[in-house]
Amino acid sequence: MFRSAALAGRAGARGGGKTFSGGGLMTRSGDDYTRGLRDGRTVFFQGQRVPEVTSHPAFAAGVRAVARLFDLVHDSAHRDLLTYPSPRDGRPVNKAWLVPRTREDLPARRRAIKFLADQSYGFLGRSPDHVASFFAGFAGAPSFYARGGQRFADNLLRFAAKAADEDLYLSYVIVHPTVDRAKPAHQQAEPYLYAGVAAERESGIVIRGAQMLGTGSVMSDYIFVTVILPLKPGDEDYAISCVVPNSAPGLKLYPRRPYALGPTSVFDYPLSSRYDETDSLVIFDDVFVPWEDIFIYRNIELTAGQFSATAAHVLGNTQAHIRSLSKLQFLVGLLKRCMDLSGRSQNAEVVAQLGALATRVSLVEGMILGAEAAAEPDPFGVMRPKDSLLYASQVYQQAMYPRLLNQLRGMLGGSLIQLPATAAELRMPESAADIERYVRWPRATGTERVKLLKLLWDAIGSEFASRHLQYEMFYAGEPAAIQTREFRNFDWAAVEALVDRCLASYDVTE
Ligand SMILES: Cc1cc2nc3c(=O)[nH]c(=O)nc-3n(C[C@H](O)[C@H](O)[C@H](O)COP(=O)(O)OP(=O)(O)OC[C@H]3O[C@@H](n4cnc5c(N)ncnc54)[C@H](O)[C@@H]3O)c2cc1C
Repeated sequence: MFRSAALAGRAGARGGGKTFSGGGLMTRSGDDYTRGLRDGRTVFFQGQRVPEVTSHPAFAAGVRAVARLFDLVHDSAHRDLLTYPSPRDGRPVNKAWLVPRTREDLPARRRAIKFLADQSYGFLGRSPDHVASFFAGFAGAPSFYARGGQRFADNLLRFAAKAADEDLYLSYVIVHPTVDRAKPAHQQAEPYLYAGVAAERESGIVIRGAQMLGTGSVMSDYIFVTVILPLKPGDEDYAISCVVPNSAPGLKLYPRRPYALGPTSVFDYPLSSRYDETDSLVIFDDVFVPWEDIFIYRNIELTAGQFSATAAHVLGNTQAHIRSLSKLQFLVGLLKRCMDLSGRSQNAEVVAQLGALATRVSLVEGMILGAEAAAEPDPFGVMRPKDSLLYASQVYQQAMYPRLLNQLRGMLGGSLIQLPATAAELRMPESAADIERYVRWPRATGTERVKLLKLLWDAIGSEFASRHLQYEMFYAGEPAAIQTREFRNFDWAAVEALVDRCLASYDVTE
């Protein structure tokens, strides 16, 4: 928890709460969040600057999906599940910001994260609790930041407290754009292709360059800027960690094609139309960052260490796994429903395939619970889920997700394609009669079958689904990077001790 007494007086900064029946204020509501996005941020789309993201058809549905999450946390009915009392003033704070100090804190965090992930069926990858979970890890380790100077630790704690009190939505850009991966940041074709310190001023620094890939950045309050890729000596200008408000002058967002624009109706694309979280190239066109918002400055060792020495990467990716579990459960549940309604779920081969799919979901669930059960306090006193189990699960999931989608496709064949183009065909009497007659299952009407399969197609076959495939394969980094994390965190001493014991148990005389 944030223990600094100096921070205790800051709670009044909290905005937009409502009176809570038990006294005190709840966290901010979805409306509060949405209002905050009308801040003049710079988003380029279709050759124009978007006047306002919350009402733009490309982004409004995504904003609503996130706003709903804030509403759920704000709702006093979920107070115990989704919030904890602020260590500063006792008012409810979103549990995503909770720095886990005890064994009980981890399941408490898990239950809150799972509840929120279920709201989007796991399709909001970078929901607000994702980067908040990283900050729970950062805030638990102020002495780590103090290695760069006490003021940086103070900055980190001050911002983490503000973000928790105001329940801010942070997205992050922690990867350099793929210009020339073979060369370090300072040897790119020109300086500041990657976001770095272009100038230092008395009151702060100027950042210039680009970062990828800001999922949710179009609709976040702040962007966390740093780099998780290894830096080389000479890269000091790129070794920073800071936050930038989305409305900062010079900050430009270039989102990819929004999937919310394509769908003919919610019925035709129930996920694309409602849960596109957006991904953006983020450009810092001489963005000024005051010293107060900087946590690491020109320090290569600390930039790398924030993701390994602190619990941040483990807590953030634990959130990601819990979210992923929701999605896997949803996908397997959808397939089971298809098998039941099509009358195939008694078929021995189908039963075996469903069992194989369920195995994958159960393995992911088991890894989350196992990492939690094997948690130990780290040197900062943060209760840290077991790293090697978390990263093993990540390696497993990166490879498993594409195979899982293929298996789902394989089990449904042409049925996934033989669907009326739009929901309107189900409303027009002549075409509706044909669909009810020819596109039915033994246990489902034509409308029920079309509804289910359109949902499944949007989850595994549409452009939205294809982006999710890419997301699951890369959101945590390129596969070799995660395998390397597993290598670093695995208990090699224990396994090699077994080998040594065996080798020592006999010699050439036996
Ligand atoms: C949908 C989506 C959302 C994302 N959201 C975010 C986000 O919110 N915030 C964020 O910071 N990042 C985000 N990312 C970025 C993600 O972190 C990166 O994609 C990831 O770190 C991999 O980096 P890369 O894309 O540059 O891949 P690359 O490094 O280009 O790797 C691509 C492939 O090329 C291989 N490869 C790379 N270099 C070499 C080489 N020299 N020799 C041989 N093979 C090589 C890799 O092994 C890999 O298989 C997102 C990515 C996706 C796809």
